Amino acid sequence: MRNENPDVLIVGAGAGGPVVAKALAEHGASVLMLEAGPWLDPGRDFTRLEDDMGSIIDGRLRWGPSDRSKPPWMRRRVGVGLILQAAGVGGTTLHYNAISVRPYRRSVDGVWPLTYDELVPYFEQVEAYLPVRQLDEGDLATKDAVFGEACEKMGLAHSSSKDITEPVWRRSFNAILPIARMTPDGPLEYPEIDGCTMCGHCLVGCPNPAGAPLERKAKRATNVNYVPDALATGSCEVVPNAFATLLLFDDDAPGGRAARVRGVRWRDAGSGEVHEANAKVVVLAGGSIESPRLYLNSGLPDPHGTVGRYLTTHAQDLVTGFFDRDLRPDVGQVTMARADFPGYGCLFSQGYGPQSFAIVLAGGGGGFWDEPVPGEPWDVQGRFS
Ligand SMILES: Cc1cc2nc3c(=O)[nH]c(=O)nc-3n(C[C@H](O)[C@H](O)[C@H](O)COP(=O)(O)OP(=O)(O)OC[C@H]3O[C@@H](n4cnc5c(N)ncnc54)[C@H](O)[C@@H]3O)c2cc1C
Repeated sequence: MRNENPDVLIVGAGAGGPVVAKALAEHGASVLMLEAGPWLDPGRDFTRLEDDMGSIIDGRLRWGPSDRSKPPWMRRRVGVGLILQAAGVGGTTLHYNAISVRPYRRSVDGVWPLTYDELVPYFEQVEAYLPVRQLDEGDLATKDAVFGEACEKMGLAHSSSKDITEPVWRRSFNAILPIARMTPDGPLEYPEIDGCTMCGHCLVGCPNPAGAPLERKAKRATNVNYVPDALATGSCEVVPNAFATLLLFDDDAPGGRAARVRGVRWRDAGSGEVHEANAKVVVLAGGSIESPRLYLNSGLPDPHGTVGRYLTTHAQDLVTGFFDRDLRPDVGQVTMARADFPGYGCLFSQGYGPQSFAIVLAGGGGGFWDEPVPGEPWDVQGRFS
C-alpha cells in the first residue's frame, strides 16, 4: 500500500537517493522513493550480453522506459558528447565500474564549503559499508599488470593510501568483493564461488556469482546494498517506472522564502497514469542532468540563475593501441590500476568488450579519426569513422 503522505519523497534511486533513503528510514522517517526506470533482478535480467544490456537505444540499462520497444529518453546536444545515464533502481551504479577513490585534498579544501578532513569520517562510513578494498598484488588482470609495470618504469611509486598528495600509481580501490578462488573444473555457482569472477561485465550489470543473494553479488551497486537495506527497515517504499514530471510547491512559503516544495507529480512510465504525493521534505536525486531539469521545468524560482549551471563533468580522453601480445582487455574488473597526479587528474586502465569500446570511441565524445596529423603522434583530425 503506497504511502501518499510520507515524511520524505526522494526522486531517483541511483547512487545518491538510496543512501539518503537508508539513513532516514533507519531513523524512523517514512520514505517514498520514485524511480523512472525499471527494477531489474540481477540474477534474472542481467544477461551479460553487451548489446542487450548496454545499448544506449534499447539496452536494459539505457536511460529510457522499461518497455524497450519504446524510444529512449535521449538527452543529446549537438557538439557535446553523449551523457551516459542509466534508468532503473540502482541508477548509474548499475553501469558503473565501482571505482571508489576519494577526491584529491586540493580539489576540496578552499573549493568547497567543507574541508577534506571534515569529509573523511563520511568517506570511511561508506567505504566500510560498501565495502571498498584495494586489490591485492596477485589480483591484477593482464591489462592492469602491464599498466602497473609501465608506471614503475616511469618512476611512479606504488601507494596503498586512500589520501593522495603526490603522483603515485595504485592498484584500484573498488567496491567489488574479493576475487573468487576458482578451480578450472570446479562448480561455477554460489556458494562454491563467492566474490568477483573477473568476468569483465561490470559496465553492463553484474550478475555474478550466479545464484548468489544480493548481498553477495560481486559489484556493490546500490540495487544490491542501500536499496535492500532501506527496504529492510520497513519504513521505505520504492516505486519503479515512476517518472517525476513536476515538483509541487507553494509560493507563499513561510520565512520569506520564495517557494516551498510540498510534493511531486509523477507519470507511470508504462501506463501513463499520473499520480501525486505530498511530503514534508522532497529530495532531488535524479542526477546532475535530470535534477536541475525537473527543478526548472517545475517553474521553481532561480533568483541567482545558478540551477543547472556549474556542471563539472569528468571528461575522459581514451588512449588505445596495439600490443605485441594478447592483453585480454575484456578479462577482469574494468579498471584494476590507476596513476594519480593530484592537481592534474589521473590515468587508469580500462578494459572493455567490443560494444562498450565502440560506444566510448564513437558515442561518448568527439569521435574516432583516421587521418594522422603530420609530425604528431596523435590521431585527432580527419574523417569520423
Ligand atoms: C559508464 C559509467 C561508469 C562509471 N563508473 C564509475 C566508477 O567506477 N566510480 C564512480 O565513482 N563513478 C562512476 N560513474 C559515475 C557514477 O555512476 C555517477 O556519478 C553516479 O551514479 C551519480 O549518482 P546520482 O545519484 O547523482 O545519479 P544516478 O546514479 O544517475 O541516479 C539518478 C537516478 O534518478 C532517476 N531519475 C532521474 N530523473 C528522474 C525523474 N524525473 N523521476 C524519477 N526518477 C528519475 C534515474 O533513472 C536514475 O536511476 C560512472 C558513470 C558511468 C556512466
